[in-house]
Amino acid sequence: MGEFDLIARYFTRAPRHAVLGVGDDCALLQPQPGMQWAVSSDMLVDGRHFLSTTPPAHLGHKALAVNLSDLAACGAKPVAFTLALALPQIDEAWLKGFSQGLWALADEHGCELVGGDTTQGPLNICITVFGEVPPGDAMLRQHAQAGDDIYVSGTVGDARLALEVFRGTLSLDAPHFEAARIRMEQPTPRVALGQALRGVANAAIDISDGLVGDLGHILQRSKLGAVLTTDWVADSAAISPALQTLPLNRRLDMALAGGDDYELLFTAAPDQADAVQDAANASGVSVTCIGRITANAGLQVLDAHGVAMSRRFASFDHFAR
Ligand code: ADP
Ligand code: MG
Repeated sequence: MGEFDLIARYFTRAPRHAVLGVGDDCALLQPQPGMQWAVSSDMLVDGRHFLSTTPPAHLGHKALAVNLSDLAACGAKPVAFTLALALPQIDEAWLKGFSQGLWALADEHGCELVGGDTTQGPLNICITVFGEVPPGDAMLRQHAQAGDDIYVSGTVGDARLALEVFRGTLSLDAPHFEAARIRMEQPTPRVALGQALRGVANAAIDISDGLVGDLGHILQRSKLGAVLTTDWVADSAAISPALQTLPLNRRLDMALAGGDDYELLFTAAPDQADAVQDAANASGVSVTCIGRITANAGLQVLDAHGVAMSRRFASFDHFAR
């Protein structure tokens, strides 16, 4: 099988909303009247973003999920994506699994594949997503306000928990490991929540590198500080039963600096608290209040007694030494 047969067999379907899909030099997309494009790319590199043990269907899911998560963080509605793929060889079992995982998540969100590029090389998956958002409605990192509550969606720390089990630094019983592994390999992009938070949240980001580090991006762009509480790490909807099995200090590291969570971290004025809960209920995901934005720069992490902790929660940086 050659490059073009591969594209035709695994990555071509009839266009739905696109004016023109796979097959020509460009795809053609027509935004809904009055909408803006929200565009984002994310790359997954073998050995760096995923383990070789990852089933191909999970990889297909994750490659799109991490991109949809960026649209969610802006409050955009997914429309289309492109897929640039470097493959070491043509492995039909792999392509079948990968494309199944990809199509399943794409269909769930009505997001269609409109083009891409395919080449031979070390396994590398790069997706670019296109979403729609009304002008001025995108939730941006720079729009946090002093006094805003800080929230996180879903649960944090599970992907790192699974990674540490794979690395052999931790062990878990089978059901807890399976639950954590699903969070690592098949994260759920909070697409509905992101759209429901438009006009409710001020600033938002999705957690890819670690909660504290990603909150740092909001603080830097908004030129503000924050106080983070940690009592929620002891017991709240944001901590899964699997993570609950760890002692509190290890749980803190996973929850605050684990990374790969693909949950939304967002800020909203205190008078929006009911609207935040309504958005969470409407989209079927929990949200947990974990702190407050302050006019003073800097980030304080408080222990269960409200005392500032001195330890650091370093987040992931591909170029850090
Ligand atoms: P070009 O020669 O213009 O670079 P290609 O030969 O790379 O075009 O691709 C042919 C067509 O197949 C294009 O429409 C391109 O968008 C599409 N395509 C290539 N690879 C993929 C892929 N992995 N997924 C979806 N579409 C793809
Ligand atoms: Mg090309």
